Amino acid sequence: LLGISGLRKNYGSITVLHDIAFEQASGESVVIVGSSGSGKSTLLRCIAGLEDIDDGTILFDGKKVTAGKDSRAALRGEIGMVFQSFNLFAHLTVIENITLAPRLVRDTPRGQADERARDLLEQVGLSDKVHSYPGELSGGQAQRVAIARALAMDPKLILFDEATSALDPELTKEVLDVMQGVIQGGMTVTIVTHEMNFARKAADRMVFMEHGRIVEQGATEDLFTNPRQERTARFLSQIM
Ligand code: ATP
Ligand code: MG
Repeated sequence: LLGISGLRKNYGSITVLHDIAFEQASGESVVIVGSSGSGKSTLLRCIAGLEDIDDGTILFDGKKVTAGKDSRAALRGEIGMVFQSFNLFAHLTVIENITLAPRLVRDTPRGQADERARDLLEQVGLSDKVHSYPGELSGGQAQRVAIARALAMDPKLILFDEATSALDPELTKEVLDVMQGVIQGGMTVTIVTHEMNFARKAADRMVFMEHGRIVEQGATEDLFTNPRQERTARFLSQIM
């Protein structure tokens, strides 16, 4: 589904991604880990077509990702995104937030969009919040709405960037449980997280980044039990 080769990304004169090679098949769940500033968010933003890239190629579903407005898979709803700050529209209710993109981008009729939104809200455990405004929700509830909103477009891939970093531990758990449900439902997901127990439990593969490079990637359990790079071992032992 996703194929990245030779990707380089500069901010001004500084290279923040070096020679990134990464592939992800449909149905796979991948977690990206690494210390602050290692380039995880930048990589997700490049995949979503939100950044110009300086070298290499990103192929998504056979099409080249560029930051050009028309080609952005994210805009067409093929790639969903869930970020640390929920980015819900404050002046719209929960169901309006979820149905906005399907109605505007896909011309889904209102009744059909509403029905799907209610199903998704049930899936994320928020059937009682259909007509609430984002300001009336806890952080965990808001993030679960953001996940439902991403799912409403039936994307081929969902990117999660530290979706739980702003949340208290109890709220973190409810969001991670929903994310795990999304994975079990067969969705292809690329997740940046510091929640290593979740990563180990939920992700098929893990990528470890440092200073803008992929140091090591492989089956999650292999990386945990038998990292080949000393730097990977050190990172995992620090964070666990
Ligand atoms: P964190 O775990 O703190 O979220 P990260 O791994 O997501 O870190 P990035 O946000 O991708 O890291 O940043 C990678 C590098 O690129 C950092 O050195 C950062 O300072 C730099 N950077 C990120 N965004 C910009 C920008 N818009 N302009 C200039 N430099 C940037
Ligand atoms: Mg980041």
